[in-house]
Amino acid sequence: MINSNYIIYKIICSTFVLIYSEWQKSQYNIFKILLKNGMTKLFEDDAYLKEFKARIIGIVKEENRIELDKTAFYAKSGGQPGDTGAIEAETIKIQVLDTIKENNKIINIVDDLSDLEENVNIIGKINWDLRYKHMRMHTALHLLCSIVPLGVTGGQIGYEKSRLDFNDPNKQINKEELEEKINLLVEDNHTVTSEVIESSILEEKPELVRTMSVKPPQVDGKIRLIRIGDIDLQPCGGTHVKSTNEIGKIKIGKIENKGKMNRRVNLLLSS
Ligand SMILES: [Zn+2]
Repeated sequence: MINSNYIIYKIICSTFVLIYSEWQKSQYNIFKILLKNGMTKLFEDDAYLKEFKARIIGIVKEENRIELDKTAFYAKSGGQPGDTGAIEAETIKIQVLDTIKENNKIINIVDDLSDLEENVNIIGKINWDLRYKHMRMHTALHLLCSIVPLGVTGGQIGYEKSRLDFNDPNKQINKEELEEKINLLVEDNHTVTSEVIESSILEEKPELVRTMSVKPPQVDGKIRLIRIGDIDLQPCGGTHVKSTNEIGKIKIGKIENKGKMNRRVNLLLSS
C-alpha cells in the first residue's frame, strides 16, 4: 500500500517537474523573443538624453556595425537623419558615423570596431549639437505643416535647412504670410508631448495623417502621436523639443516649384 502510494506520488512529482521545466523553457523563449525584438528606444521617452549605458548584442565586423540592447541614438527615418556620436568601453572609444534602421533594428555604423565584442557594456554619447538642431528643425516642420492646409508629399530635415513639399497646384503658399504665422506659433510657446494609441483609432481618423509619402511607424499595432498644444497632432516617431520657443526665430527660405503640383518650402533657423 505504502509502496503504490509512493509510486503514484513519484509519478505526480515527475509530471509536475516535466510540466514546470517545459513552462520555464517556453517562458525563456518568450523572454528571448522579447529581447530580440524589443529594442528600447530611449529617445522616445526622453529626447534630451545625451548619454546612456547599454550592452552590445550584435556585431558585424566586416561592415563596422553594432547593435545595442537599448539606445538613445535615433535611426534615420521619417526625413530625420540618423544620429552620430561615440561609443565608449573602458579604454576603447569609437565614433558613430551614422545610425540606421534595418528589419526593425537600430544599427550604429562605426569607424572602427576595435576590440569590442558582444555582451560588452558600453556608454553611448550622442552628438548633441547635431541632434538638438534636428529636434528644433523637426518641431518647426510640424508647425509648418499645421499652418499650410495642403497635403504633404515629402520632407527632409537637415542641419542648415529643412524642407517640406506640399501638393499646391494653385500656388496658394505665401512666403511672407507663412514666416509671420510660424514665428507667432514659436513665440506662443506651445508644449510638445507624445502619446501612444492603438493604430485602429487612426484608421477611424485618417485625417490625422497629413504626410502622403511617409507611412506612420507602427509597433505591435500601436502608433506614436506628437501633440503640439492644441494646434497640431501627427503620428511621428522622431525627436522633438519640449516647447516651441526652443526652436527660436524661423526664416522661410526659397519656395520652389517642383513639377506641376508640388511646391517645396525651405526653412532655416536663426541659430
Ligand atoms: Zn515629428
